[in-house]
Amino acid sequence: MSSRAELLAQRTDWMRQGTQRFQRELDALKDADFGAPSALEGWSRSHVVAHVVGNARALVNLMTWARTGVETRMYADAAQRAAEIESGATLAPERLRLEFEQSRLELDDAFAAMPGEAWGAEVITAQGRKVEATFVPWMRSREVWVHAVDIGPTASFEEFPSAFVEALIDESSTMFSGRDDCPSVTIEYDGRRRQLGAAGGPTVTGPPSAVLAWLLGRSRDGLATADGPTAIPQLPRWL
Ligand code: ZN
Repeated sequence: MSSRAELLAQRTDWMRQGTQRFQRELDALKDADFGAPSALEGWSRSHVVAHVVGNARALVNLMTWARTGVETRMYADAAQRAAEIESGATLAPERLRLEFEQSRLELDDAFAAMPGEAWGAEVITAQGRKVEATFVPWMRSREVWVHAVDIGPTASFEEFPSAFVEALIDESSTMFSGRDDCPSVTIEYDGRRRQLGAAGGPTVTGPPSAVLAWLLGRSRDGLATADGPTAIPQLPRWL
């Protein structure tokens, strides 16, 4: 794409819009809704909110690393991340709302503290991927937009900014294609075609938002193949 400054501006914009969207969805939940299941198997809405809070703080760690050069991982390990989500999910709804607000402010402060050159520093994600710090607002964008849909009831993939949908389809389909367990499938949307896995397999068509929801394991709604919806393959887990 373009220069680092443009990339950063674009990603930061998506992050801020997504944060507002998540906030609106959170505000729409009544206290009694928090314990109900989210769209993610095994997780209540409280689990999702606790995870989004923990992710903000983990990304603050990455910005601290980029700014100071002192290695600061997102999480100590997967067990610590999981334990924080479990304990966070037991908090009262009012407390979870406050935690979200607090973590959002911490993330804003960390952004404000970043000198321009620090955005080019290399950090390592929880998946072990080496990225430059401009990846942080991209990671946060994914979290707030997608998890807004997971806590429901009104957020949907159709609301995502179209360039963000395209970037996320690009990233997730590239990621799947690099994996041995990716089935052969062609995706077709908006006049574009992408092959996932080895050549062959069915062609899945639909609007970009529906293709994205399927790539991220959220839904198969709105998709079609020549052999009907049952021919839509099961993809491996995203992230
Ligand atoms: Zn997440």
